[in-house]
Amino acid sequence: MSQTWENARPKNMDLTHLSKQSPIIIVGAGAFGLSSALYLALAGYSNVTVFDKQPYDKNAYSTAEGADAASADFNKVMRMSYGDELDYQRFAWDAIQIWSLWNKQISSSLPENLPHGLKPSDKIWYNCGFLRMSTDGSLSPFEESTLRNITREGLRSTQFVIGNKDDEKRAPFYFRKGEWGNKRDPFHRQRQGKSLAGVFDSSAGYVDASKACTWVMHICRQYGVRFVLDEKEGQVCSFTKSPAGNKTVGIRTGSGREHRSEFLILAAGPWTPYLFPAISPLMETTVGSVVYFRLPPKEKAPGLWDRFSPENFPVFAYGGWTKGLGIGGFPRTADGIVKIGYRGVKYTNYEEVQDKVTGTKHRISVPKTKYWPEPSEPAITKQAVQAIKSVVREALPELAELGIAGCRNCWYTDSLDTNFVIDHVPGDEGMMVCSGGSGHGFKFLPVLGKEVVNIIEKPAEKSAIAKLWQWRTKASGPKNGLEEGEAGPRNWKKQEMATEKDWEFDQKAKL
Ligand SMILES: Cc1cc2nc3c(=O)[nH]c(=O)nc-3n(C[C@H](O)[C@H](O)[C@H](O)COP(=O)(O)OP(=O)(O)OC[C@H]3O[C@@H](n4cnc5c(N)ncnc54)[C@H](O)[C@@H]3O)c2cc1C
Repeated sequence: MSQTWENARPKNMDLTHLSKQSPIIIVGAGAFGLSSALYLALAGYSNVTVFDKQPYDKNAYSTAEGADAASADFNKVMRMSYGDELDYQRFAWDAIQIWSLWNKQISSSLPENLPHGLKPSDKIWYNCGFLRMSTDGSLSPFEESTLRNITREGLRSTQFVIGNKDDEKRAPFYFRKGEWGNKRDPFHRQRQGKSLAGVFDSSAGYVDASKACTWVMHICRQYGVRFVLDEKEGQVCSFTKSPAGNKTVGIRTGSGREHRSEFLILAAGPWTPYLFPAISPLMETTVGSVVYFRLPPKEKAPGLWDRFSPENFPVFAYGGWTKGLGIGGFPRTADGIVKIGYRGVKYTNYEEVQDKVTGTKHRISVPKTKYWPEPSEPAITKQAVQAIKSVVREALPELAELGIAGCRNCWYTDSLDTNFVIDHVPGDEGMMVCSGGSGHGFKFLPVLGKEVVNIIEKPAEKSAIAKLWQWRTKASGPKNGLEEGEAGPRNWKKQEMATEKDWEFDQKAKL
């Protein structure tokens, strides 16, 4: 790996119809749009403009200040463990190297050289490790293939299988004093006489998503990318087409203005199918559920702050990863928030949507966030709350004593087969879709755009991973539930939503 992350830019540029000065529009300043913008600028494209309907330069992607996107969040898992998906494993490993370099760049910056929302003491990548704890005493086939592929790449020393004699022996040397003990069984299963089986991946951890986006927007600007971040002027309402109707040539924004593009990248996250409904056979907007626990002030509960710190507590998946309960969580944030998510069921929200160009009507799943289409109180499903509560009761009773402090529906796009969708729109040489993160896209923020540029410039010479993302209408494996459509059981309208009463645990808070 090169020592400067900028060297990761794509080589051997062979431009087709685009010149370096061609106007390129990116719709969406989430992880996918930002990474695309960054690598286009690094590749020398000098006329790149990102449009987003949200004022990220003012709210620094902070959800507390109203930022509303999958990429605006406290934390996202950074892992290279990908089962038998070796291409993703390698891609994630490359990303980790750049996350580490970015941490160094931030810490060595002067405060006045950092954007609003970032200071030199901030980290965007926390290498606290990822514990995938099995609850049935055995490792899943996913873990076994991950171990095989990580061994194959010469990185087995980063993995610690609980109960494996060699790993147990070297673990205390690898970790800081006492840390292995805390991260090996943070749920105190052994003390309760329960099985202890799982894998601790020491190469993994989490990234501070909001701060990471703020950082990447900052470096994009340094490389000349322009941002239009505004509810009206930044909001893309429709696409303009060439007279023959076969090429996207620009956008019309909420203010009514038109902007011309030679090439457009649609990276609107969960709003992608809403803006471009024709993609719906390939991609569906879904929602994962998240709850927050707030630790009492540090001076009142120093033990809890210590226990849940990234130094002592890992990112976790309880019940494993693929075969698990769909419950995972993070160490506390600097403000004392512990986030736990439920992805056992990802819900859909079907509405009638009119294609902004053709006028055709479609029934597709669209986001229903705290702010869009209009402000509303967030409620997550009873099913999600019950699943999280049952794991918290069993594994993290200290949090049960505190009670749930808040919740969020986090909207994103799932593709047919959980591979991203990054490719030219067939029959439209002016447009590409860059979305379908399928719940695992954020970690690739430092590297994704490199592939985007390669796909734009050399569509016929895609890398192995980019081939997974190409336009497709059939899944080679399971269809990820997309075939269920509106009639399926995940439809939000069929769910019972949790009230704050449902958030309550049996115990009362003791603090
Ligand atoms: C609950 C949950 C947990 C996740 N966990 C992980 C994880 O642990 N690790 C991981 O790697 N990934 C994870 N992901 C996935 C990751 O968050 C996404 O893959 C990634 O953030 C998607 O980025 P994006 O840019 O495609 O979309 P977004 O971040 O949603 O950005 C889309 C942007 O488009 C803008 N936009 C939309 N419509 C318009 C318009 N009309 N005009 C202008 N702008 C518009 C929006 O304002 C937004 O800024 C998770 C996702 C969720 C929801």
